[in-house]
Amino acid sequence: MKIYDYLIIGAGSAGCSSAYFLHKEGKSVALVDREGIAGGASGAAGAFLSPLPGQKNIYNSLVNNALDFSLDFYQELLPEAVDKKGVLRVANDNFDEDKLSQNSIKYDYFDSKKLHDISKNFREIEGYFYENAAVIEPIQICNKLTKGCDFYKMDVKELVYKDGFYIVDNIKAKNIILAQGVSSSLVEIPYMKISPIFGLRVDVKSTTKVPFNIHKAISISTNKQDGTLSIGATHERHDSAKMECLTTCDKCSFYVKGDDEQVKSLLKQADELIKLENLEVVKIYKGARATIKSYFPVIGKIVDYESSLKKHPSIQNGTKIPQEDLEYYPNLHLINALGSRGFVFGPYLANILTKNILHNEPIPQEISTGKLFYKMARKSKF
Ligand SMILES: Cc1cc2nc3c(=O)[nH]c(=O)nc-3n(C[C@H](O)[C@H](O)[C@H](O)COP(=O)(O)OP(=O)(O)OC[C@H]3O[C@@H](n4cnc5c(N)ncnc54)[C@H](O)[C@@H]3O)c2cc1C
Repeated sequence: MKIYDYLIIGAGSAGCSSAYFLHKEGKSVALVDREGIAGGASGAAGAFLSPLPGQKNIYNSLVNNALDFSLDFYQELLPEAVDKKGVLRVANDNFDEDKLSQNSIKYDYFDSKKLHDISKNFREIEGYFYENAAVIEPIQICNKLTKGCDFYKMDVKELVYKDGFYIVDNIKAKNIILAQGVSSSLVEIPYMKISPIFGLRVDVKSTTKVPFNIHKAISISTNKQDGTLSIGATHERHDSAKMECLTTCDKCSFYVKGDDEQVKSLLKQADELIKLENLEVVKIYKGARATIKSYFPVIGKIVDYESSLKKHPSIQNGTKIPQEDLEYYPNLHLINALGSRGFVFGPYLANILTKNILHNEPIPQEISTGKLFYKMARKSKF
């Protein structure tokens, strides 16, 4: 039986980034995943990294801080897997002209004439160009993040905790990090309700050179190293709480039904932005993004909901019980709900989580497990 300091369950952006920072701090780390490295949503991602414009608020500040951190991080980690050519954001239903122009991030306004000077294939569009944006190779990045850690392909059915160790098959670990994405959690976390948003993206070949990433409701990437372009992604929400939504669940209608309609819709939306000549679809990717209602990601020690309420029933009346006095599952942490920005958030959150675990540095309230716990506990009485 092999013994590790940390066992990470889920080898996507969240799990691989956590493995990287823990390993960097000298910890022995194993990762397990039923699909392989980046076999879940992370392997399906575009993967675009772009800023979130609009008037400054807690959410877009989080995204934009994460973007600055993660983009620099990837460029240092594996420069050949990062294409930092910026993004042109075109106004859409979510981002009208006002919202795009109200922000503290530096941008240039490109009118249609300027765009036609850059490429005659641009349609009659205009937009805001942000330099700090990229497209990355998600699978290469995840593989590189896990260098120095052991990987086991395994479907973990339960967690057994005995004599200060978690035992999973023939692996023993002092600590566990759950990075499970949309899969059912291995422990009860009633205050974190993950709902999956399925998505499809395509890689295409085209003779058209795309000078930078373009984003409206969907994104088109600049030409990647192999010349292909990524176009993605669709969004399909799945609210059936009863359905066991695994990332490759073949019972789910999203995976069973044909892809033609979704691919057609993506290509149509792309064509409204730029004319892609001699277009050929080379690969279709599908996955499910894990989100919670607020769209904030969640990290931290896992609060045991039932035991905490039993110990401090007055929480339900609004009594303020400090977070350190709650009951926790032993040596169990999570990183999840990365939503549509898994590669923007991954390294940024994993770095915060590692510093919290190893050096007791605080986790910002808005992304902490504690915040969700209190929210549900205080409501539970009414
Ligand atoms: C089509 C699409 C396009 C996207 N585009 C972008 C983009 O452009 N930019 C961006 O930043 N993000 C994008 N995203 C979002 C991004 O992919 C996700 O936010 C990110 O991958 C989430 O990472 P994760 O590690 O939390 O989850 P996942 O990558 O899903 O990893 C979780 C892993 O846990 C494993 N697992 C769970 N439970 C168990 C168990 N019990 N035993 C063994 N293994 C287990 C699963 O097999 C899975 O591999 C996109 C997502 C999709 C679907």
